[in-house]
Amino acid sequence: MRRNTYLNLERMMKRWTSPVYAFYHPIPDIAYIDGHRAHVFKCTAKSCKYTCRRFLDGPDRSSTGNLIKHVKTCWGDVAYKAATDCQHANEARESVVKPLTTSGTITTAFDRKGKGKVSYRHRQHTKTETKAEIVRWVSESVCLFKIVEDRGFLSLMKTGRPDYYIPSASTVSRDVRIVFARTRARIGQMLQEHPGRINFATDAWTSPNHYAYVAVTAHLEVRGEPICIVLDVVELLVVRQYLDFNLLYH
Ligand SMILES: [Zn+2]
Repeated sequence: MRRNTYLNLERMMKRWTSPVYAFYHPIPDIAYIDGHRAHVFKCTAKSCKYTCRRFLDGPDRSSTGNLIKHVKTCWGDVAYKAATDCQHANEARESVVKPLTTSGTITTAFDRKGKGKVSYRHRQHTKTETKAEIVRWVSESVCLFKIVEDRGFLSLMKTGRPDYYIPSASTVSRDVRIVFARTRARIGQMLQEHPGRINFATDAWTSPNHYAYVAVTAHLEVRGEPICIVLDVVELLVVRQYLDFNLLYH
């Protein structure tokens, strides 16, 4: 039975000549799900965890649709196109996939192993990914939106690839607002659907120039991890008006 399974696999593998197979491990795993046999293809890109399951008794048993879809997002259109110019998966593996994985010229993810180094994917960002990455960068590092028009930054980004897309400062400002609105809605939904308890806390302080602020935070447990979210930072105008009044009239 077992031997048969592998003979069968070997026979099928001979038919997998499409260049898209070059991006996956040459021998797929065999899995049984509810008694149905499936081939599990693993993407070979560094730090990519993607797997594609194909049931042998399903209508998609020889379909490469999902395999192709993933290759385009993981390796990029250019790499996929280069592979399709090859006659056979083996040829694509040698002349496209191998050089890409060894030289690391294709690019980018935030895959961080523990506290270790960040590793980058081989493919350049798409326009949308660049915009998302910039929103994350200016928010995390508290940059002015104008930073994207900075001469030095543009020189670093565009040297060697003058067509590299960088959004304008006003686009970044709009994107930040959009991301903020969506994130707020998502956090709201997450808190409402949270099955456990949520603790709310406040933290109030006064800035050196006598402005009073209160931060409202939520504390909860998600998948075993304690998390803390700032819901809002409110300026207490009442206090300020009181202080202004005192400064003016006393
Ligand atoms: Zn992948």
